[in-house]
Amino acid sequence: MISPIPMPDFPVQIIRKLNHAGFEAYAVGGCVRDVLLGKMPLDWDITTSALPQEVCRVFSDYRVIETGIRHGTVTVVLNRQAAEITTYRVDGGYADSRHPDNVTFTPSLIEDLKRRDFTVNAMVWHPDTGITDQVGGIDDLNNRVLRCVGDPDRRFSEDALRILRALRFSSVYDLKLELSTDAALRRCREGLKHISAERIQSELFRLICGDHADRVLTDYPEVFAVILPETEDDINVKGITFTVNALQKAPPILPCRLAILLGRCPDQAETVLRRLKADNETIATVTALLQASALPLSPDSIILTHALHNLGEERLRLLLAVKQAESPNQTDWEAINKALNRLLQGNPCYSTAQLQIGGKELLSLGFRGPAVGKGLNELLQQVMDGKIPNDAAILQEVAATLPKE
Ligand code: ATP
Ligand code: MG
Repeated sequence: MISPIPMPDFPVQIIRKLNHAGFEAYAVGGCVRDVLLGKMPLDWDITTSALPQEVCRVFSDYRVIETGIRHGTVTVVLNRQAAEITTYRVDGGYADSRHPDNVTFTPSLIEDLKRRDFTVNAMVWHPDTGITDQVGGIDDLNNRVLRCVGDPDRRFSEDALRILRALRFSSVYDLKLELSTDAALRRCREGLKHISAERIQSELFRLICGDHADRVLTDYPEVFAVILPETEDDINVKGITFTVNALQKAPPILPCRLAILLGRCPDQAETVLRRLKADNETIATVTALLQASALPLSPDSIILTHALHNLGEERLRLLLAVKQAESPNQTDWEAINKALNRLLQGNPCYSTAQLQIGGKELLSLGFRGPAVGKGLNELLQQVMDGKIPNDAAILQEVAATLPKE
């Protein structure tokens, strides 16, 4: 059953201000859905009878960003929170499976609700009248059902991004697709080829971090084959069972989930992530995790020090989470995590920057050119292997025995 949280002040202030100026206004879409599900929304959408210029006038004392004004959207910033205020509208034809060819403003709230993708996203809320639900969104939310507003084939052909939005909502909120929505989604899947990489990325990344990503990946292999052809063999064949089991066990941290998903095609992981226009940090982390997948791991402090050297603390913790999800019973992961915490408390030395000797000292000992770097590395290896302590005097002594050119 749904258990709503109280609507915060922020959307109420915006709605009241528009009402005082003589316009209709409601919170709409995802924020209403999230409040009904007891979750604090990440962003606020307001739908209003006011035209964009009228919205700008009502909020002339506020920071107003006119980015989406052609489609009727104005962003208003209040106390560092932002709301997207969109004029009631109907969308024209969709020649490109993504963008409406034109949008027309309408004075009718109902018309505006009909253009929205799913019933759970087509409810409005007002501080005086509460929820208005013209499409059965509350029942669907209660029954954990995701259903298109209107004819599903038409809605998915108009805008194929809705296919991935549907699977994202299914994964994140544990909604099952209503039968005709499900069938149409599968039929229209090729439309995803017309959707920009950035939009696919944003939906896919949220989908795989959902609590029910395992079910969605298992149930819709033909859809993932369109956007992730590289993993197709595995998504369609046995490998998927291993992948989805591990996905479900891994924490909902993007690089962990991606490393598991792309662990089926590690050689192509970077290509896939670049195609999806993932950010450089995500690409670097995921590829580092995949490259380190064969790294020996045990509670032994020398092994762990080398792992820290290879990956750094943050990535090592991610790798441990991935490995634990992939093979929960093969290793005593708790012992490894405890040993790592203990090791880190003692400030271990695992990079040349932490050595109690630096390049300058080696130069003054007569080291030249590449021998400086090589010398520091050799000293670091000896410290990490526990052969010598990280002590300035001892490091100087050992350095004196190393090749200087
Ligand atoms: P979230 O904010 O969690 O990503 P959301 O449903 O709020 O989910 P937004 O992109 O914020 O997604 O969109 C707000 C609302 O606009 C949606 O709830 C829906 O009513 C409508 N909407 C968004 N994208 C589409 C779309 N592609 N087709 C039809 N309606 C859409
Ligand atoms: Mg939203």
